[in-house]
This record gives sequence, structure tokens and C-alpha cells, in this order.
Amino acid sequence: MRWDHSLLRWIAAGPGGRGDAMAAPSPSRPDRAEALAWLHESDPARLEVLWRWADDVRRARVGDEVHLRGLIEVSNNCHRQCHYCGLRAGIRELSRYRMTADEVAVCARQAVEYGFGTVVLQAGEDEALTADWVEGLIRRIKEETGLAVTLSLGERSSAELAAWRRAGADRYLLRIETSNAELFARIHPSKAGAPSRADRLLLAREMGYEIGSGVMVGLPGQSLEDLANDLDLFARLDLDMIGIGPFIPHPATPLGREALQRSVADRIGDRELMTYKMLALTRLACPEANIPSTTALATINVAAGRELGLQRGANVVMPNLTPPKYRVLYEVYPGKPCTHETADALQGRLDSRIQGIGRRRGSGPGGRRRS
Ligand code: SAH
Repeated sequence: MRWDHSLLRWIAAGPGGRGDAMAAPSPSRPDRAEALAWLHESDPARLEVLWRWADDVRRARVGDEVHLRGLIEVSNNCHRQCHYCGLRAGIRELSRYRMTADEVAVCARQAVEYGFGTVVLQAGEDEALTADWVEGLIRRIKEETGLAVTLSLGERSSAELAAWRRAGADRYLLRIETSNAELFARIHPSKAGAPSRADRLLLAREMGYEIGSGVMVGLPGQSLEDLANDLDLFARLDLDMIGIGPFIPHPATPLGREALQRSVADRIGDRELMTYKMLALTRLACPEANIPSTTALATINVAAGRELGLQRGANVVMPNLTPPKYRVLYEVYPGKPCTHETADALQGRLDSRIQGIGRRRGSGPGGRRRS
């Protein structure tokens, strides 16, 4: 299949122009200037207005259900050199693993036992996860569990995406990481001539996938203008799922070292607060999207990050089902909470945490709503 550069066509069309696959921005959402003003806002009382606005829109558009996606970190092997990621090729101290199909199937059955509607298969860009192997795995999970299957396997070819869709995969996650093309190029060495992540997402949508993307907040060199542009792009891509988390410096990576040396907070300020603002503004920009309260947020605020995310726009949680012996090695960033917690223990606490904020767990696959 040919890559369709509709994003490029849209950019070339200039402000207000859009490609066929793009949605028109909704008039009721904050425009770019308003979003930027919110990103600059520091008054807690004013920010309460934003949190309440986002929570109201969340309740009205996607309801009180918190959808649970069981995350399975299939492999921490990666041949890419992303400057931010602790799985990048060449980190010698990291032991590498790859789960067997049987091990993944056990995790998927666990997801069914726990009443989750979706499993997310995530990995580094591991060439040993061949098209055929992944295809067989998708078919097996579908046959054995009937769960919705989300893939987060990096920048894979259009032929692979098509084969996996035919095998039954429902959704594809690929974060753009930042809409600032120059910053992205600096932190993510791309292969010459490779399509952009946004173009890959649009192609996946044409194949029938629900598509998900997102960004990190607080990358060295990222500005508030960049974040406002991220929000614009989310709306124009009409994303079905949007994951937003703080950048967490990993000391074994070039960007992590840079951030630790010159204080990551230089332009964005408080990364946790900025992540909540981005979550809330994303809910307003894309009212029907499925938005997780991310693990990265729960990492920088272990006590309350998860709940605050859910109260400021998010409606999804992705509990980790990876066997603990592998989970400790899937160190995209340091300090992930619950690294040693068994899935059973986590399951025990999930319902009380969700009910504790007046919400209920979702049932069924929890796909994108369209009203
Ligand atoms: N190989 C896959 C999955 C990567 S891990 C892919 O590239 O899509 C999933 C996400 O973790 C990444 O998209 C990125 O947004 C996030 N991530 C990576 N390093 C991070 C860091 N240091 N801090 C916070 N989030 C990070």
C-alpha cells in the first residue's frame, strides 16, 4: 500500500485548510489563543474552572465509566535510538527480554478474568516480532478471549499494519511525541524517507483502525506554543485515543542526561501541573476521545496522579499485566510505580480507587464514541 501524505497536503493548505481525513475543529472548544492562555495560567482558583470544565465535558460526552486496558509489554528489545527512551538500542545495562506467545496469551486470559475489555500489546521496535508472529498472536487472542486488541509496536510498515488489521487488531497507538518537527527530529532519529508518525496514523485509520497518539510534556526545548500546537493537531487528526504524560528523564539516555543537567523545568515549569492542563484542554479539544490517566503521571505523583488525571479530563486507565519479572525490565523511564506489584494485588485496589472518586469501571471494549 502507498503512503498517503494527507498530513502534508493539509499543512500545505495553510490555516483553516484540511485534508479529507481531518475533522473540522469544533467551534465550542477553546481556540489556540485561549488554550495558550490556559497553559500560562498559574492561579489555582482559575485553574479550578478549567478542571471543572474538562470534568463536565468528560461526564457529558464519555460518561462516568473508566475503561480499563490491560497493558502487556511484549518485548523490551529495540533497534531505534530515541533520545528519550530507556529501551533505546545500545543501553548495555538493560537485560533484554521477549515474551513467548504462550506468556502473552496467559496475560490476555488474566485480562478477561479481571473484566477488562481490551489488551494493549506494546513493545520496543523489535524486528524479531515479525509480521507473522504478531499476526498469529492477534488471531490467538481474538479466538481465545474476544478482547479488543490495541497495538503499540512503533513505526511498522504499511503491509504489517494491514496484515494485523486483517487478523483482527482494532486500534493502533503511536505518539507523535511533539508536534514541533524540529524538536522531534532532534530527539527521534528517523530513517531517511520514512513517513511521519501522523501520516502513519492516518493510513491506519484508512485501514479501519481506531487511532491513538499523544505527546510528552516537559521535553527539553519544548515551549508552551508547541503544546498549543499539539492540541490543534489532536483535534485536526480527530484522534480516537490521546495519551499525555510528563517527560521523565532517564539517566541512561541523551535527553535524560541533558534534562538532569540543566533542570528539565526550564520552559514548561511544573511538569505535573502542565500535564493536567494538557489533559483538560485535550478533553475540551477532543470531547469524545478516550484519554488515559497515564502511568507517567502516576509515576511523578504516586499518591494521587492517577485520580487527578481522571478528574481533569481522563476516562481510561491502563493497568499493567506484564509478568513482574519482565515488567522491571521495561524501563522506558525510571521509577514506574507498582513495578513489583502482582496484577492480582493491583486488581484488588482498582475498584476502590475508581469508586473513591465517584466513578465506575467500564464494561465491554470501550471503543471511541461518536455522537
Ligand atoms: N516503541 C513504541 C512504544 C514506546 S513506549 C513506540 O515508539 O511507539 C510508549 C511511550 O512512552 C512513548 O511513545 C513515549 O511517549 C513514552 N516515553 C518514552 N520515554 C519516556 C520518558 N523518558 N518519559 C516519559 N515518557 C516516555
